[in-house]
Amino acid sequence: MILTLINDVTDKQIEKIEEIARDSGFIPEVSRGESRTIVLIKGENAILSRGKFDPLKAVERISSISVPFKLVSKNWIEKTIVKVGDIEVGGKEIVYMAGPCSVENNGSTEETASLIKSIGGTGIFRGGAFKPRTSPYSFQGMGEEGLKILKDISVKTGMKIVTEAMDPRQVELVEKYADIIQIGARSMQNFELLKECGKAKIPVLLKRGFTNTIKEFLMSAEYIASEGNKNIILCERGIRTFSDYVRFTLDISAVPVLKTLTHLPVIVDPSHPAGRRDYVESLSLAAIAAGADGLIVEVHVDPEKASSDGAETITTEAYAKLIKKADAVALAIGRGA
Ligand code: PEP
Ligand code: MN
Repeated sequence: MILTLINDVTDKQIEKIEEIARDSGFIPEVSRGESRTIVLIKGENAILSRGKFDPLKAVERISSISVPFKLVSKNWIEKTIVKVGDIEVGGKEIVYMAGPCSVENNGSTEETASLIKSIGGTGIFRGGAFKPRTSPYSFQGMGEEGLKILKDISVKTGMKIVTEAMDPRQVELVEKYADIIQIGARSMQNFELLKECGKAKIPVLLKRGFTNTIKEFLMSAEYIASEGNKNIILCERGIRTFSDYVRFTLDISAVPVLKTLTHLPVIVDPSHPAGRRDYVESLSLAAIAAGADGLIVEVHVDPEKASSDGAETITTEAYAKLIKKADAVALAIGRGA
């Protein structure tokens, strides 16, 4: 349930409200907004009678949240902008994240980064150091050595870094080197990983599992939020259907659906659903038109030589063209600078 408090509520009244909630076995969460203070009362069947609060004369309105995802629900907060340095994910401007599928130690990652930096767009660089691969015989990523390459790129170019943690034991390490922790599609319901990321001090980019519903997606975000980390970026990256000409089906409808259900920013990964580089641009433009707050695109200076996902990885030249068109679409729908 949500308590909307009176305009001139005092700290003492808020403390009393928190006490009443705790005494009934629930967890109060106070959100001090620009104009209003709201208290979310969390817990299974968290319902308290109005009479409990009446003597305080501090509660203006009581409403219930009927959805199972409470903290990430739009009923609770209208909009969250996730700040990554000066970059605002979920603000007016479209945020572009780009880089190779995997970090490599042959100089190509640094070269890709400096080209991406010169192309412009919003500067968030992606690259996996811990790679979730279908086959145990495929390249598994460079681990900490890869994280060091990413950090170095960040220091030299000023770009922020997003990279994946696959295991709760990797979260602290990723936090040390990166600016955003990515949770991959295959890990979306790794609840221990979600909880660990919920304790992290940096934002989390949560990818939708390819067999997961929107409700499950938001429940996973709820896991992170319930541990304290509210800086969550949702990412639609395609789901399994019967389509046989793409790797996954990009669920474009997930963008407006998520936008009606949650206050969290929503971005789209056009690369993994495409599975082929010639589809990446169309999916990117569709995502922006549908209202996505950003894109995360696989880009490599020489995609044919990429150590993973080369088929869907675009060149830096193609990326420059994509950004230009995506900016035009953004402008057409009233977004962008
Ligand atoms: C990736 O970003 O390279 C990746 C493995 O993505 P996903 O988890 O969406 O498959
Ligand atoms: Mn990939």
